[in-house]
Amino acid sequence: MVIAYHGRHHLSNTIGGNDLRYHRCVSGTHVDADAGPEPPDAPGRLGLVEAFVNSLHMPEGPDLLATPDAARAWLQHQGFHTPRLSPGERDDLVELREALRDLLEGNAGHQVAARTVHAVMQRLNASALETVISPAGAELVARGSGVAAFTGELTAAIVIATTDGTWQRLKVCRNDSCRWAFYDGSKNGRRTWCSMRSCGCQSKARAYRARKRETSAVSA
Ligand SMILES: [Zn+2]
Repeated sequence: MVIAYHGRHHLSNTIGGNDLRYHRCVSGTHVDADAGPEPPDAPGRLGLVEAFVNSLHMPEGPDLLATPDAARAWLQHQGFHTPRLSPGERDDLVELREALRDLLEGNAGHQVAARTVHAVMQRLNASALETVISPAGAELVARGSGVAAFTGELTAAIVIATTDGTWQRLKVCRNDSCRWAFYDGSKNGRRTWCSMRSCGCQSKARAYRARKRETSAVSA
């Protein structure tokens, strides 16, 4: 089966009609002069990787892949018809998602463990990809259906993004309690927070409080 790519509107994460992409990020009320714009969505097929990693809202959830039924509905929403999904297949998807989250930390300058790379490769290598040649050039097309088609599309997205230089800009927020995947659209590509309005500012506020405590301790 050739996967029809449905475009960006299928790549959002929703629960009850609410878009969760920046739910965490826009919930902060502290806005300062340094607050930058919200990061843009990852471009093209890379948006699927971003949506997949962000199907868990850390630290407490919701998790859009919480059960086999929920995960099946999520896949369906992304355009991958999956009539059945076993508990084991759901667990494999969650493991892949978390391994991808760890892998994306590499794009934010962190060390990535060899076992993380292995876990991603092991799962993505099970998918079937085909190169389709046309007068317009070559295209990577995922074969199969359901989970296999989904992991094939993830693989194609990562290969293409690595080649066009967008992969390196898909990062995981450095706030340990957030770890939201975001696309760094900044000029210098050095953004490390998903949103300066929430994570960045919270972190700066914590640093400010810590400095203030230290100053008080010294002057006491
Ligand atoms: Zn964040």
